[in-house]
Amino acid sequence: MSNNTRIPFVDLITPHLELKEELGAIFEKALSSGRFIGGPVVEEFETEFAKYCGVKYCIGVASGTDALRFALIAAGIKKDDTVITVPNSFIATTEAISQTGALPEFIDINERTYNMDSEKLREYLETQCYIDNDTGRLISKRTGRDVTSIVPVHLYGQTADMEPILELAGKYNLVVIEDACQAHGAEYFFKKEDQWRKAGSMGLAAAFSFYPGKNLGACGEGGAVTTNDEEVARKVRMFRDHGQAKKYIHEMEGYNGRLDAIQAGILRVKLRHISQWNEDRRRNAYLYNELLGGIDGIITPYEPSWTKPVYHLYVIRTKNRDELQRYFSENHIATGLHYPIPLHLQKAYERLGYRKGDFPVSERVASEILSLPMYPGLRPEQQSHVAEKIKEFVLNSTLNVS
Ligand SMILES: *Cc1c(COP(=O)(O)O)cnc(C)c1O
Repeated sequence: MSNNTRIPFVDLITPHLELKEELGAIFEKALSSGRFIGGPVVEEFETEFAKYCGVKYCIGVASGTDALRFALIAAGIKKDDTVITVPNSFIATTEAISQTGALPEFIDINERTYNMDSEKLREYLETQCYIDNDTGRLISKRTGRDVTSIVPVHLYGQTADMEPILELAGKYNLVVIEDACQAHGAEYFFKKEDQWRKAGSMGLAAAFSFYPGKNLGACGEGGAVTTNDEEVARKVRMFRDHGQAKKYIHEMEGYNGRLDAIQAGILRVKLRHISQWNEDRRRNAYLYNELLGGIDGIITPYEPSWTKPVYHLYVIRTKNRDELQRYFSENHIATGLHYPIPLHLQKAYERLGYRKGDFPVSERVASEILSLPMYPGLRPEQQSHVAEKIKEFVLNSTLNVS
């Protein structure tokens, strides 16, 4: 490939051009029927996405952030609770926790999977919490508040290690809400049950985002809650629509958080392609693994045998991350950082009182990760070009050192 080739980070144009007629028909149908909010198209999408995730219920909402917030409130998380999650995520995870009135508390990630470390979760529950003798409730020593739930994040499209997390949750009576916003279609193997389960079907409820760049993306904002729990489903349906099950009969205050009919129609079209798109992402990831595997100082993603990731992102690690990113940018290859500052060190969370050094793995990883171009239509020659540039960079930096 020539040296002027631009490689984008994602391609949000080609798939839409390929589906242009079908997607255009969705708009036309909405325009001619006047059904913009709710209605049969939203319900059809909900039924199909529930089936895809292997759950009984799916409730379409306005965004992944709404999905997380509604799932948490419907699961009973309330003001002054403590909710456990990871510092290596998008801020929406902790925003949703805070917006229920609860406090986020962090567990460090595993150095290889970049997801919640279940051993550290165990250690936290055993040493950083105690059971109140009078009430029997689990209290965080740090916050002095009730610990009521865990939000594992399936980051980069790979599920967290759910079996031990769910076991600990069961032992300590904690609710588990999956942040599956990056993991549509990802799978996890339960050894005890001897079966694979889809992201979004493992906790009490789960949140998905249909932000355009996600594996299943709308042409605008969108999200969904999935659950097998009828009561959680009923509550989320009410929260998204001002706390009403019937028009103007408000059982509680809710939100304006609905999925609109045009987005639902678009998502129905795209849902028919997601299995293929996820396969394409996996194929691209394995080619990257091959191309980059032998390069000194480059760590490629780790895929444990108990996961089938969907590679929302393809994230490598290197000590010279900033220089490598600059080199890519000079060579017109777009990259990303997911995420450059761990949540506990964000200004927004100063009030939580965490300091540098509190979550060493998240902090180290944040300074070394680099997300390479990844999307279903990425071509092998583009990937070879990316690999060539990394090799060039590594060679130049060793020459400069010696
Ligand atoms: C995208 C994302 C969200 C939020 O989804 P929105 O639809 O943008 O509100 C939450 N958590 C994670 C991990 C995400 O990647």
